[in-house]
Amino acid sequence: MLGIIGAMDIEVEALYERMTETEVRTIAGMEFHKGKLEGTETVVVRSGIGKVNAGICSQILADCYHVTEIINTGVAGSLKAEINIGDIVLSSTAVQHDVDAGVFSYPPGEIPGLGIREFPADEKLLALAKECCERVNPEIQVFTGRVASGDQFIDSKEKKTRIHDTFDACCTEMEGAAIAQTAWLNKIPYLIIRSISDKADDSAHMDYDVFEAKAAANSVRLVTAMAKALSH
Ligand code: SAH
Repeated sequence: MLGIIGAMDIEVEALYERMTETEVRTIAGMEFHKGKLEGTETVVVRSGIGKVNAGICSQILADCYHVTEIINTGVAGSLKAEINIGDIVLSSTAVQHDVDAGVFSYPPGEIPGLGIREFPADEKLLALAKECCERVNPEIQVFTGRVASGDQFIDSKEKKTRIHDTFDACCTEMEGAAIAQTAWLNKIPYLIIRSISDKADDSAHMDYDVFEAKAAANSVRLVTAMAKALSH
């Protein structure tokens, strides 16, 4: 069973529409849509925004649906000049940019006691995503790199520069690393797929409103192609 998480309606609604044999169950206020996506047994769910929602949602996918992979689809702010609005970032790893236990000598992003600072994505899902993206989104660029997540909408040059310089991340958003941490704790392969809606700078809010839908659609197109490939 494949699990797909999007934080917002706009990131999952097109997937619900493509699913067949759908059964819906509500747990912790989240609607889990289980059915077939392009022939693959899949659960699609809108987690809500932020790391807590995303972590809870991922754990439910593990416990109640025994998912064998988790894909996070959505939009994000770019942290690098060459990554443009509409382009896709695939996670090599994910880190929480708002974790700071530096006073105990932990590096930024490392949660005390966990023994790991960033959570590696699954190589096979990554390779499949690259191959599918070139096929279904040929007009955009696809990057692989670190995703930095935190409970903040990043909308200034100053905040953006701190996250970029501290973590050398490609994009920033509000759920991915919580999904990655939950997947890591449960030994479930995961991948974050994010299409760029804004540049996480002073024009982020304006750009986000304009480009959110187009960016979300690029990510959905890729996830759909991956579900199809996984059905073979
Ligand atoms: N428009 C929504 C709020 C969106 S919050 C509302 O009014 O309710 C932004 C969402 O997009 C989050 O799910 C986050 O993961 C992603 N995102 C896109 N750009 C981002 C940025 N610059 N900083 C942080 N998260 C971003």
